[in-house]
Amino acid sequence: MRPVSSWGRLSAEPHQVVDLSDIAALVDQTRGMGPAIPLGMGRSYGDACLNPGGSLLNTARLDRFHSFDPETGRLVCEAGVQLRDIQRFMLPRGWSLPVIPGTQIVSVGGAIANDVHGKNHHRVGSFGHHVRNLKLVRTDGQAIDCGPGVNPDLFAATVGGIGLTGLIATAELQLQPVAGPWLDTEILPYRSLDEFLTLADDSESLWEHTVSWLDCTAGRRTRGIFLRANPAVDQAGKPPVPSRRAVPVTPPLSLFNRLTLPVFNTLYYHLNAHRGGTKRRPFDTFLFPLDDVQDWNRLYGPRGFYQYQLVVPRDAGPAALRDILDIIAKSGQGSFLAVIKTFGERASPGLLSFPMPGITLSLDFPNRGARTERLFVELDAVVRAAGGRLYLAKDARMPRDLFDAGYPKAPELARFRDPGMSSGMSRRLMGH
Ligand SMILES: Cc1cc2nc3c(=O)[nH]c(=O)nc-3n(C[C@H](O)[C@H](O)[C@H](O)COP(=O)(O)OP(=O)(O)OC[C@H]3O[C@@H](n4cnc5c(N)ncnc54)[C@H](O)[C@@H]3O)c2cc1C
Repeated sequence: MRPVSSWGRLSAEPHQVVDLSDIAALVDQTRGMGPAIPLGMGRSYGDACLNPGGSLLNTARLDRFHSFDPETGRLVCEAGVQLRDIQRFMLPRGWSLPVIPGTQIVSVGGAIANDVHGKNHHRVGSFGHHVRNLKLVRTDGQAIDCGPGVNPDLFAATVGGIGLTGLIATAELQLQPVAGPWLDTEILPYRSLDEFLTLADDSESLWEHTVSWLDCTAGRRTRGIFLRANPAVDQAGKPPVPSRRAVPVTPPLSLFNRLTLPVFNTLYYHLNAHRGGTKRRPFDTFLFPLDDVQDWNRLYGPRGFYQYQLVVPRDAGPAALRDILDIIAKSGQGSFLAVIKTFGERASPGLLSFPMPGITLSLDFPNRGARTERLFVELDAVVRAAGGRLYLAKDARMPRDLFDAGYPKAPELARFRDPGMSSGMSRRLMGH
């Protein structure tokens, strides 16, 4: 047994970690196992990838490519392959993953099991839309193929299924052709939520990637920075290799507090407002700015931090967001780098997929115990009333009634669950 934390570093409880390494041996290695849950790169913030007192099926060494068809762009690989490795290998060959979340240091299995979304959701939907087939290994020894055309119900339960239907051993992914690694990007400051919404609506048809940062310390008089990008038509050769920085120690207290946050947010706003305008940038520095700062999660101090990511339907969204920004400003527990984006209309493929048409906002909060929990209870009430939901990949504490309200298809998952799989999250939200 050894202590394991997820990205939020809220706990470090003992787990038995089983290192998987060989696809051929998986059935034997996982048979009769339980309670167990697969572990990818541990980039979930809460307890989706944790199983205190039980086993973690670590997929980090299931990291081989099996085949690639350069005619069709179909890649078959093991579930522990990182999205970054796929990009490094495929971009020079003119192909890219269609969907990548805000970090590339994520496994294929984790990307499927959380049905992750990227800054181009309005164009291409979520990760699961681009999965053609999966091999699922169950703890009773079965290995089952599923995909949109084979066992589609099991597939819908597994995409976004937070590891509960079995271990994804391999996946067949449809890549998309790209000209190269450069993006033509634009940065635009805005000074109200309405201005953000107009920019988002106007950008969706013309820009492939859109995302925005907002200052949530200013309440409903918020301001922010809107970012949008398209693949550059004429690519300018190889981009420079980004320099990697690391956070050397965990500070004794969170660096983000009532005094520093307004300063950080104001600085960030003005810095970017002045740098505004158009520029050609490498895709990774634009899409994954935090990947070059190793262990930045340590900046929140030894008690860790929560991410609160919500989505609210488009109609109720603006009013709900105003209430949320008011509540956060009054609480004095603002977030550094609150990220806001609109999701497109494409229906999500999984029973528990997070994206739905509307507006999504994600905020980081240092863990201040009961104070932070009280803030979340207020925010939950707004999300519930607006008909929204919270993202399981980020969650560590949502109450069961909010899960039931936000994920009405969750009861259908029961039929497809692997009885040997259980996580901290499944016990908290589903009772087992
Ligand atoms: C900086 C940062 C930015 C992020 N930005 C985004 C974003 O923009 N969009 C977004 O959608 N998400 C985002 N995320 C969340 C992240 O993409 C997801 O949590 C992703 O699932 C993490 O993948 P992982 O390999 O670390 O999986 P883990 O966190 O280890 O596991 C995630 C879930 O997948 C299951 N799982 C893992 N491997 C397998 C497998 N082989 N078979 C079956 N189940 C498996 C686990 O049991 C768990 O339930 C971000 C996270 C970080 C840290």
